[in-house]
Amino acid sequence: MKSLKRRNLYSYVEVQVSFSLATPFKGFHIIVKVKINHSLRNELIKRGDSAMEVKKATFRGGIHPSYFKELTNHKALKKAKLPIQVIIPMQQNIGAPCEPIVKKGDYVKLGQKIGESKGFVSAAIHSSISGEVIAVEPRPHPTGQKVLSIIVKSDGKDTLDDEIKPYGSIEAISSSEIIDLIKEAGIVGLGGAAFPTQVKLSPPPEKKIDAVIINGAECEPYLTADHRVMVEKADEVVLGLKAILKALNVEKGYIGIENNKPDAIEAINKALGETSNISIYSLATKYPQGAEKQLIHAITGREVPSGGLPMDVGVVVQNIGTVVAIANTIITGMPLVERVVTITGSAIKEPQNLLVRLGTTFSEIIEQCGGFSQKPGKIIMGGPMMGITQYTTEVPVIKGTSGILVLNEEEANIPDPTPCIRCGKCVEVCPINLLPLYISAYALNEQYEMAEKYKALDCIECGSCSYICPSRRPLVPSIRLAKREIVAQKRKG
Ligand code: SF4
Ligand code: SF4
Repeated sequence: MKSLKRRNLYSYVEVQVSFSLATPFKGFHIIVKVKINHSLRNELIKRGDSAMEVKKATFRGGIHPSYFKELTNHKALKKAKLPIQVIIPMQQNIGAPCEPIVKKGDYVKLGQKIGESKGFVSAAIHSSISGEVIAVEPRPHPTGQKVLSIIVKSDGKDTLDDEIKPYGSIEAISSSEIIDLIKEAGIVGLGGAAFPTQVKLSPPPEKKIDAVIINGAECEPYLTADHRVMVEKADEVVLGLKAILKALNVEKGYIGIENNKPDAIEAINKALGETSNISIYSLATKYPQGAEKQLIHAITGREVPSGGLPMDVGVVVQNIGTVVAIANTIITGMPLVERVVTITGSAIKEPQNLLVRLGTTFSEIIEQCGGFSQKPGKIIMGGPMMGITQYTTEVPVIKGTSGILVLNEEEANIPDPTPCIRCGKCVEVCPINLLPLYISAYALNEQYEMAEKYKALDCIECGSCSYICPSRRPLVPSIRLAKREIVAQKRKG
């Protein structure tokens, strides 16, 4: 493949000319990519020392879907009712599952550890209510599998575990104690990925971190949980960020918030007060602004390399819910036993943002929102772009449940795909600068080596290409399949 590049201050033009004998794209290909060169542009923007950086930072590509956030973005957080029973799966994070340390018939207290993490990439699990363990058995999980779960029947008393004691202030605890308390509290990334937080905060010594970014973009349509948390718990956001800065021994912190949340920007700015080492970035409202690589690029101008991680460019990114969970643990000693969930969509009677105990079933939560207003066509955990479709509402809210979205039958009806018309729209919107039409076609032809050459593994599965495609091609599912096959081949050696 030949590549001819021309660079100037504001744009980057890449012309690729290639010849391929492989089906389905036999013959010559000419691909032209144009992108704004943010890293060069950002060097020209003077950054002040004030807490507030009002500039529309953004990234290349992306889409502007209908957001539907008005269903819940003005609704204050409410505590969900205490559940009658909870189903607590032993797999709630990326990495190793936990092992149950209680058995049927045991009495457990609120906040008591019931699942022990066994691997480095894992997070402990605690009971979200007090009561009796009535079963330890596989139960349906939002990922579609059955997962070993501890079922606790509430005694209605919420008796607190004796181990739970406030840690006091950040000043009272050391950097390593902060990482230990995060580990003990079972805190994971609450944006949906559920990566154990203490692992992110323990980079190898050769990776020098000099910036922490808090992700307040919440770019997924419909979801407003982070938005409400920033408005109502701004002090905790700042405290949690300060704890992370101390844990990593990093001076500079950033909070990136999409500019469709002016009240959140205002609340955080107020909470920062005289703090001078934390800046707020007002981000352009565009999907997927909250994806880690896009956020890092928008705020620092740094480009995470293909196959790399944020720590490769000296950055750690954490979600809003995660920093608030850290702050809560410091203030109260309580591990992660509840989270804010946006329950929304056209088929929900009263959309809300609820503070929900982990393990509460979707059906119980939907009931508290007045139930279904019309026949549900699709139930999704998370947002419409990256969420996971559910086949039953008898699954529990887990640490990664940012939302429960219920669409009506009409919205859920996706027309059948038609042949690709080579319009190039999927290429235009891909924030990673990939060629989705090629990767997908190779995947559908089981030519996984070619899909890998076209960097399928770099795909962040944001769904922008599928969203924009006029032919409704199954781009994301086929790219996801290619990724799975490539990884499986690599494992086989
Ligand atoms: S190819 Fe992957 S990263 Fe690019 S738009 Fe599609 S889903 Fe997003
Ligand atoms: S957007 Fe759809 S139709 Fe257009 S080039 Fe991509 S896959 Fe083909």
